[in-house]
Amino acid sequence: SRADITYFGAGPAALPTDVLETAAQALLDYQGTGLGIAEHSHRSELAAKIINEAKADLATYLDFSPEQYEVLFMQGGGTGEFAASMYNLVGAWVSRQHAAVQKEVQSADEAQVLAALRQRVESGLKVDYIVTGSWSLKAYQEAQRLLGPEYVNLVCDARTVNDGKFGKIPDESTWKLSKDAAYVYFCDNETVDGVEFPSFPKILEPKEDGTGPIVVADMSSNILSRRIPVSNYSLLFFGAQKNLGSTGIAVAILKKTFLPPTVSQPSPALLRKLALPIPPIVLQYEIIAKNNSLYNTLSIFDVYIAGQVLKKLLATYPNGVDGQQAVAEKKAELIYAALEAHPGAYKIVPDKSARSKMNICFRVTKGGNVDEAEKAFLKESTDLNLTGLKGHRSVGGIRASNYNSIPLEGAEKLARFIDEFAKA
Ligand code: PMP
Repeated sequence: SRADITYFGAGPAALPTDVLETAAQALLDYQGTGLGIAEHSHRSELAAKIINEAKADLATYLDFSPEQYEVLFMQGGGTGEFAASMYNLVGAWVSRQHAAVQKEVQSADEAQVLAALRQRVESGLKVDYIVTGSWSLKAYQEAQRLLGPEYVNLVCDARTVNDGKFGKIPDESTWKLSKDAAYVYFCDNETVDGVEFPSFPKILEPKEDGTGPIVVADMSSNILSRRIPVSNYSLLFFGAQKNLGSTGIAVAILKKTFLPPTVSQPSPALLRKLALPIPPIVLQYEIIAKNNSLYNTLSIFDVYIAGQVLKKLLATYPNGVDGQQAVAEKKAELIYAALEAHPGAYKIVPDKSARSKMNICFRVTKGGNVDEAEKAFLKESTDLNLTGLKGHRSVGGIRASNYNSIPLEGAEKLARFIDEFAKA
């Protein structure tokens, strides 16, 4: 039964049982209305309340200002956000250039403005990608596909410093950042490769006068597990299905200076003239923000689950994310220590400097035949109700996803098994 197993799957991840029990009831009959939460109109007052509370609780837990950042519930998953982040921040860049050109040219001559703007796009538009694992690689490739490879700059490819495999973050001094990029993109925690940035990259920090690069991060697999300097980012996004809730929604936290009245997205007609892609309306942050995430039908049930997870986190850690971070670190330490105690039986995949606290990736080398050793490891762990440990199909090996819903005892059990398997 559910109570017996500890599920280490990488996503969808396990959710707290009490949250699911509450949600199951809400699915049948929400607050005595006779209708379930998935049946109520997304335009009802109760839906708005669920959305607004989840937004406020997220800001409280992560400690950012709702005056400065907008929380958007998006559809299309983390993958949809690869596209959305590109469209919206390139749009903001074009808007800024357009305003600058209009000032510079000081003429109402549209053709002149357009020519100057086109010139700026051709010579100056760059989006920067830091590739440290398979998800940032996918985001980089999606930007190339949608925007055109000529505009997409590879800041670094982590495989070049680690024998052709992901597992290490290249030194910042080697990063090739563009001048005035529309944004710099990175994935804070690479779910497949087990690579996590130990802290916010120094080179991307804002300068003392407040200026600095426009930074975007994918935090799908480590959001809510550690404190993040939200004010260093222009945009953060994450799919819900690991630490936040159920599959079906993604969240974008966007600095409000990227929304009207400061910035309006360029019109489709202008983008067409510049030969730049036109975003689908469901990916336009401006539209989603204006409609409080209800431009089209949103799964309020998914927002409700996310909201319940946040309420539980805030009840457990009234001071926010720091309490959860301490627990996440402790659990990761236990598991890594058990692996490190047996260098003859296990090989941790990523370099120590970039090891993820959320996705612990390792190979079982005991006995010399990795394939057989890993099969035995997976079979014996499953027999002990430690499940979901198989690594991603693209890289193989073992992956223990140590998300927030794994209790300390679950991590202890796994660490004990790692130790006993090595010794047996
Ligand atoms: N980014 C990261 C870091 C992920 O782990 C994942 C999915 N595991 C994605 C993006 C893609 O998310 P989705 O499947 O929701 O599109």
